[in-house]
Amino acid sequence: MGTPTLAVWKFTSCDGCQLTLLDCEDELLTLAGRVRITHFAEATSVDAPGPFDVSLVEGSITTPDEQRRIVDIRAQSRVLVAIGACATHGGIQALRNFADVAEFASVVYASPQHIATLSTATPISAHVRVDLELRGCPIDRGQLVRTLCALLDGRAPDLPDTSVCTECKRRGNTCVTVANGTPCLGPVTHAGCGALCPTYQRGCYGCFGPMKNPNIGALLPILRVNGMSTDAVDRVFGTYAAAAPEFADRSRDEQSDQTIDGELVGESGRRRRSAGDGR
Ligand code: SF4
Ligand code: SF4
Ligand code: SF4
Repeated sequence: MGTPTLAVWKFTSCDGCQLTLLDCEDELLTLAGRVRITHFAEATSVDAPGPFDVSLVEGSITTPDEQRRIVDIRAQSRVLVAIGACATHGGIQALRNFADVAEFASVVYASPQHIATLSTATPISAHVRVDLELRGCPIDRGQLVRTLCALLDGRAPDLPDTSVCTECKRRGNTCVTVANGTPCLGPVTHAGCGALCPTYQRGCYGCFGPMKNPNIGALLPILRVNGMSTDAVDRVFGTYAAAAPEFADRSRDEQSDQTIDGELVGESGRRRRSAGDGR
């Protein structure tokens, strides 16, 4: 068997996840000795034709051209790994899914008639089969290196689908919510970052997106008790994985029609507030 080929592709994204790969430095030198990089625009002008043993795909699909390009890349890739919140959930740009894209284009561009764009930003898995997903904005460097090593060794990578809380407890952290009353999305957020934010005394804000079967209804009252307003809750769930059904506004409302200190925090609470008898 020849040297395996690795290609790194960019779709609609900020390049931050590709930079995480470049940031691997020492590991990247070792990796470069084990693979032949055939496309990685952030690192090299090499642009060799497929097929590719491993394709890392950054970014979401937001244009007709990207829709065509991802199908072609999938067809040429033995293993396709979506990297980062843009590729796994549509990313921050998926906020457009709940707005008027034509209006945005008219405000941002002097000649919007030249802009070819879709009305949505969607994850790679909405268009082609994805073999693995690395979550996060950006991805976790250690998880990326471990995943690449496993693929090169012919092993299945260990990608836990539990919550950030499990990693936080494993690190021996003191819970920032329990100790300081800091709101934290760790109980419902997909593991993989090693509980980075709580380790530095910050609450998790959910950049790895929802874990499998998150119990959001149980977390919402705790966020509210610890000082998050309804708007703040909407913002924290509606940023990095706004398009994830589990984090969607409607889904939260249905799970959370609960009362805290006499105030409804779910859909009924919203109706009361919009009728003028709440905040
Ligand atoms: S997931 Fe975050 S860091 Fe990665 S490309 Fe998207 S916006 Fe950038
Ligand atoms: S700090 Fe956050 S992630 Fe850590 S145990 Fe508490 S709620 Fe979970
Ligand atoms: S703790 Fe939460 S916000 Fe921080 S890196 Fe991990 S998943 Fe992202």
